[in-house]
Amino acid sequence: MYFENIATLTLSSPFLYQSEPNSTGNALRKCLIVRYGEIALKGKNRERFEKTLERNMRKSLEIRGIESKFKRIRGRILAYTSSEEAEKVISKIPGVVSVSLAEEMSYDELFQFLANKLSGMGKKRFKVDTKRVDKSFPKTSIEINREVGSYLKEKLNWEVDLENPQVTVNLEVINGRVYYFTEKVRGPGGLPVGTQGRVVSLVSTGIDSPVATYLMMKRGCEPILLHFDRGTEREFRRIVDLLSEYHYDIEYLVEEQKEFPKYVKKLDEIGKREWTCVLCKYMMLKRAEEIAKKKKALGIVTGDNLGQVASQTLENIYLVSKATSHPVYRPLIGMDKVEIENLAKRIGTYEHFTKDKCEFRPRRVVTRGREEDFSSILAELGMLE
Ligand code: ATP
Ligand code: MG
Repeated sequence: MYFENIATLTLSSPFLYQSEPNSTGNALRKCLIVRYGEIALKGKNRERFEKTLERNMRKSLEIRGIESKFKRIRGRILAYTSSEEAEKVISKIPGVVSVSLAEEMSYDELFQFLANKLSGMGKKRFKVDTKRVDKSFPKTSIEINREVGSYLKEKLNWEVDLENPQVTVNLEVINGRVYYFTEKVRGPGGLPVGTQGRVVSLVSTGIDSPVATYLMMKRGCEPILLHFDRGTEREFRRIVDLLSEYHYDIEYLVEEQKEFPKYVKKLDEIGKREWTCVLCKYMMLKRAEEIAKKKKALGIVTGDNLGQVASQTLENIYLVSKATSHPVYRPLIGMDKVEIENLAKRIGTYEHFTKDKCEFRPRRVVTRGREEDFSSILAELGMLE
């Protein structure tokens, strides 16, 4: 169990944060070290970014009934919770580069701690790998590696092997304290959701649009999901649940394209049924723009991927883009299908995709729609402003 030492130490408080190491030095505080990348580079915005990341982590834990305390220190955020689940929850949050469950102590306590922790493993080839986040600490990383290394060599009779060690003793120095950890769990990286404003994301129950939405979230956008129901509401809600692993509060709308059957009928009457899919996407973007205006979102997102299906050509994308003056973001446009599928597998949406069961899809679809043709169709349908 993660925090067994601590539980006995902090009976009065659920937060490890408030506990103090005892004098024997063997009941040490455990915490999660949260590392973040780009957000450290954002100059004056850094504090806002860090606060947003902290809020996103705290809320994600909160909705799972996990209480937490955070400490923001330049370059790292430390999370104190009493739940084993916390590491996994935090490792999914955009902005997080990696998380480690660590034991915290003073530099003086480190030596005895390591001797206790690592004895009984038999003779090992090892190295000490220190990262000094706190540059004001009086010893450099190299000095710490050397001091700890020679202590363990002596104490445990271990052998230093920098090239091919069997054991790596990972240390980080943060704010004058030393942290020992064994693993780094990778996070998504990128920027915390909410740091870049809102977008309306057109999400089906296919493979692509959930991935596109995830990528925009990873760039800090807060998505409002818009789904047009094709008898797919249940499947769509599952996608919402899966994406909610990455952000605690995802807004979504499910709508019916009530008018659409009427337009399909008209297309049929004028012998232009093959334009159905282009018209459908055009209308989706129009509706997305209306919602974007209402919700003060600055862009629209789709899962379009050039050439993937017959209708996703430059020509058709050009035509449907006329529906809106909002920027349309298509983060998958240049990716290969396999890359998209791998990402979908990684974020957990792949196993849940459902094939499009659109009843309106014609047997033959326009692949390279011409602007004049589309304009005259829109005029015939009374859709030109
Ligand atoms: P996906 O895998 O996302 O369904 P796709 O490769 O099947 O994409 P299309 O069916 O042509 O391609 O859809 C292109 C984009 O249009 C989708 O990625 C999505 O952004 C949007 N879209 C399609 N169907 C719907 C729907 N029912 N509700 C909302 N948006 C949709
Ligand atoms: Mg689809």
